[in-house]
Parts: sequence; C-alpha cells; structure tokens
Amino acid sequence: MSIIAKNVTKIYGKQKALDNVSFEIKKGEIVGFLGPNGAGKSTMMKIITGYLPPTSGHIEVNGLDIYEHALEIKKQIGYLPEQNPLYYEMYVKEFLEFVAKLYGIKNVTQRVKEMIDICGLEIEQQKKIKTLSKGYKQRAGLAQALIHNPSILILDEPTSGLDPNQLEEIRQLIKELGKNKTVMFSTHIMQEVEAVCNKLMIIHRGKIVASDSIQNIKNISASSSIIVEFSVSLNEKAFSKLSLQKLEKLSDSKWMIETSDVEISKKLMNIALENNASIITLHKSELKLEEIFKTLTQ
Ligand code: ADP
Ligand code: MG
Repeated sequence: MSIIAKNVTKIYGKQKALDNVSFEIKKGEIVGFLGPNGAGKSTMMKIITGYLPPTSGHIEVNGLDIYEHALEIKKQIGYLPEQNPLYYEMYVKEFLEFVAKLYGIKNVTQRVKEMIDICGLEIEQQKKIKTLSKGYKQRAGLAQALIHNPSILILDEPTSGLDPNQLEEIRQLIKELGKNKTVMFSTHIMQEVEAVCNKLMIIHRGKIVASDSIQNIKNISASSSIIVEFSVSLNEKAFSKLSLQKLEKLSDSKWMIETSDVEISKKLMNIALENNASIITLHKSELKLEEIFKTLTQ
C-alpha cells in the first residue's frame, strides 16, 4: 500500500514537469528515485507530501487520498526537501525541540534525545546550525524529518553536496532507517541506488521510464554483452537463429554480441557443435546499472 500515484501530471505554465506518472511504493520498500536534473523528481516529491497540488491525477498514502486527509497524512510522512529547511541561527537541540513542539509531541526532551542519538548528532548538539558541516546539516534535516516517527520518509537528494565520507555515513543511516520505514529518496547518482535501495524508479522528462527491483531492471533493459571466440571461422549466418540486439565481427572466429537471451551460452554451444567446432573463450559482461540509466535517459 504505502504510496500510490495515479496519472499524476504537473504543468508549470507551459512546462510539463510530470506527464501522467503512475507508480506504487509498497510498505517497507526503499525506493531510489533516479533521474537527471530537471526530470521531475522534486516536483513529484512535493506532490506526494502535499506541498504542491498536481495539475491532474491522485495520490494515495496508506490508503487515504492526500487532499481529503491532508493533516493526517502529514503526520505519517517525514520529508526532507532538497533545500534543507533549517533555522541557521538556532542550536541543534533547540531546533529539534522547536520542531517537536510544532508536531505536538508529548515528551519533547526524551524524543529530541532519541533523534540526536539515531542521527548521530551527539557531538554537535550544542552548536549553532550555521556552524555545522554539510553532512551534519543533513543529519539535522533528517532528525527534523523523523522526529514525529512517520512511517514514510521522503528524502529529496539527501546526499547531494556531501564529501565521500559523509556520503557513506548518510547512506548507511538511510539504510538503517529503511529497516522499519518506507523510504523514497531521490538522487542523480546511480551507485547510490545500488548501495541503498531494493527498488529503483527512473524518471526522465516527467515520465517513469523504468520501475522495478534493481535486478529486474538489469535483466530487462538489458542485454549483456558477450565476446565469443570459436575454434573455426564462422560467418554471420551461423548466428541467424539467435535473437540478438547486436552482432559484430571482431575476427573470422571472434564475435561480439549483445542479447537479453538468458540461455545464450547454451545456444552458442549449439552453434559450435553444428559447426564441428568448440568455444575457445566466452566472455560475458553484464551491463552496468549506470549504462542502463544512460540508455534510458538519453
Ligand atoms: P528535478 O528535481 O528532477 O531536478 P524538478 O521537479 O525540480 O526536477 O523540475 C522539473 C521541471 O519543472 C524542470 O524543467 C524545472 O525547470 C521545472 N520547474 C520546477 N519547478 C518549477 C516552478 N516552480 N516553476 C516553473 N517550472 C518549474
Ligand atoms: Mg530536484
């Protein structure tokens, strides 16, 4: 259940930012929302969290329409916008107490302490937000998004601008949080998705171009590329029964093929048998997620 988007379109003036987008995010999934700049990620997230109305279409969160149950849904969602909404003049602890009170949380001191603990803010809790490093600012932003214990977390590019160490720490934190929450986070970094998520949605020019488990996306969009060398010379005809995306002759006996046929190795063996030959080398390389992303968003 969790999040369902049905035919969501958003038009800003003449700019169509989302074009009939539909998807479903199930309870407990960590979904990477991947797309190049300007693809529509932030727009989608603002709509899901109820901060922006769609031009048309519907969003349901935990079975409720977000516009009929706006307040109730805001309680179930934690949102970290792209521009982390921090009060720079406040101290970390003071800021979190302020947010906790906004949500009407009963035991404020206790909850703030928990958030400081979960988000690893202990050593910085007495500092002013403006003096924090980018990584700690993101932690403070996450603490703010989590303080009311929402079941769903929407994080808009939570790792952008972090250095490699901070990046790794925030990724781990998201993964940890994802153990008992539904998480949707956007990024334009491919490796991040593989490191953190169990599901991937790729958006391009306002349209979802792929949505599935990471493994399935790899299998579907993809094609592996294979280099095969036979013990004899062969011509193109030998491959005519195969369904290939690409066939390239490297030498008389050596060929490069691209196919999504999972039984390709077996079929190449048969070709060798039919020609009284053997296979000398067979080298298979799976298309990397990065390449799939490039293909889908070109
Ligand atoms: P992303 O987060 O994937 O980078 P956005 O959702 O921010 O993409 O933007 C999607 C498209 O909508 C872009 O072309 C952007 O310029 C446009 N856009 C976003 N917000 C506005 C706005 N308030 N007014 C006009 N156009 C906007
Ligand atoms: Mg954005």
